[in-house]
Amino acid sequence: MSWKTLETNQPHVAKMIVNSIRKERVAHAYLFEGQKGTGKKEAALLFAKRLFCLANVYDEPCEACVNCRRIQSGNHPDVHLVSPDGNSIKKQQIEQLQEEFTKTAVESSRKLYIIEHADQMTVQAANSLLKFLEEPSAKTVAILLTEQLHRILPTIVSRCQVISFHPLPTERIYAYLQQQGVARGLAILAARVTNSLEEALQLSQDDWFAQARKIVVQLYEALNKQYVQALLVIQQHWLTHFTNKEQMNIGLDLLLYLYKDLLYVLLGEEQQIAYDDCMTEFQQSRFLYSEKQIAQHMRAILQAKARLHTNMNPQLLMEQLVLQLREGSAFV
Ligand SMILES: [Zn+2]
Repeated sequence: MSWKTLETNQPHVAKMIVNSIRKERVAHAYLFEGQKGTGKKEAALLFAKRLFCLANVYDEPCEACVNCRRIQSGNHPDVHLVSPDGNSIKKQQIEQLQEEFTKTAVESSRKLYIIEHADQMTVQAANSLLKFLEEPSAKTVAILLTEQLHRILPTIVSRCQVISFHPLPTERIYAYLQQQGVARGLAILAARVTNSLEEALQLSQDDWFAQARKIVVQLYEALNKQYVQALLVIQQHWLTHFTNKEQMNIGLDLLLYLYKDLLYVLLGEEQQIAYDDCMTEFQQSRFLYSEKQIAQHMRAILQAKARLHTNMNPQLLMEQLVLQLREGSAFV
């Protein structure tokens, strides 16, 4: 991400960074919060570059000096990035960081650390970090990143300046994908699935995503026929294609948007739909579902998405969903 992109996508963040540096009011700790794909980590790295950049450019980091380049490649001695080790950030990782920070800065008077997915700290790690934050050194800057602000200890939040990152509007992402030559159906879906330009482009060019869309359509067609057929699609295609939580989440999103399309068709707003190749199927389904039923189905999919976080068995989760999506259908 360039500084220009940050200024366009998250102008308040760019302004905060510029002001705090110009007025020499850099805080000891920041908490960047916002959805996935809003550019929190990229902004944290730009902040670091802006602080350490050797070129005297007014606002932007130069991206060319030795400091900018080392931050970019992750080997600046005074800039540290902590990420979850497996599923969590362990106490030991925070202790290592503290140890590192008791040494004086190697090359400049400042040190900066970024903690990615700060909500995944174990209780012990969070308590260690809290002590660290309670004894701030004048030259230390902490940037915590999270997609789930409510999971961060309030005592930690209160010691940080909280900066919220806003999701990019779907239309902006969609327009960008179209510029890049992505086919309409895939562009609309990719723009709805993520708030990140890069991720949307990557998804829309990935065979996995195109295949995911096909499986979702297959499931929908099977649901309109027989319960057993839908279960077969789950076992033979769905569970082998969506093999982890993140992929399952995308799959369920794609299914959700399909039902949303169905709703658009029912409301006569066909120009909005993403599954334009399913138009005939949708026109027929129009007589099978009422608006209320479609809304119920969308709720069921949202519930399934929420259950992903409870570590429920994926097969069970999908089978329950299929049952709910068959409920109240005109042809059991
Ligand atoms: Zn530079």
